[in-house]
Amino acid sequence: MFSREIAKGRGPTRIFIGGIHGKEGLTTINLIKQLKDDDVDDGKLLLYNCPESKYLSTLDPLYYQSLMGEKILKIINTYKPTIYVELHCYKPDSYLKLIDLDRKKRVGVPPLIELAHGVLISSVAPYLRTKVFKRDDVCITLEMPCRPTEKSTQIYLDVMKAIAGSSNRKELEDKLKINYPSQVKTAKRYAAEFFGEYPAF
Ligand SMILES: [Zn+2]
Repeated sequence: MFSREIAKGRGPTRIFIGGIHGKEGLTTINLIKQLKDDDVDDGKLLLYNCPESKYLSTLDPLYYQSLMGEKILKIINTYKPTIYVELHCYKPDSYLKLIDLDRKKRVGVPPLIELAHGVLISSVAPYLRTKVFKRDDVCITLEMPCRPTEKSTQIYLDVMKAIAGSSNRKELEDKLKINYPSQVKTAKRYAAEFFGEYPAF
């Protein structure tokens, strides 16, 4: 597993982890490698990228018992980040399923929300959100096409940098609201509907 630490003294611990399942890591490593020390103002940013593994949805209860799932849980339990980000990518034919407004009925979780150019955002799997993380922690899933356009890549990277440069939820939401006000609003509504008075991410 690829790993790298950016440490800037006291402050929050953030974890970004790419390539959660299947071949995603081949795409996400390119984004992870573009983050620079200067993208973090204070605290830590721990970057991970997983090697190829069997594809198992993170919504599958067995995922976090799989080899890769257990490694991720161990990383979370060791460093106890207050900001946690999963970097995913999807194949073109999954796009409509991910943003399907009936996704909750179909697979039990709200749809992902499109920021722009196929870059999608949501919280993380319910098991992680409610059992592993505290309510005040920030949990984000980012998705983009596994063969992204330049614009998709730029947007994805911009959001990663916005998170890397934020120390808490308020700072991050204020940054996201500049370009994506309606998406932040929708995320808040989904979190409240699905998790019950949870914050957007
Ligand atoms: Zn994925």
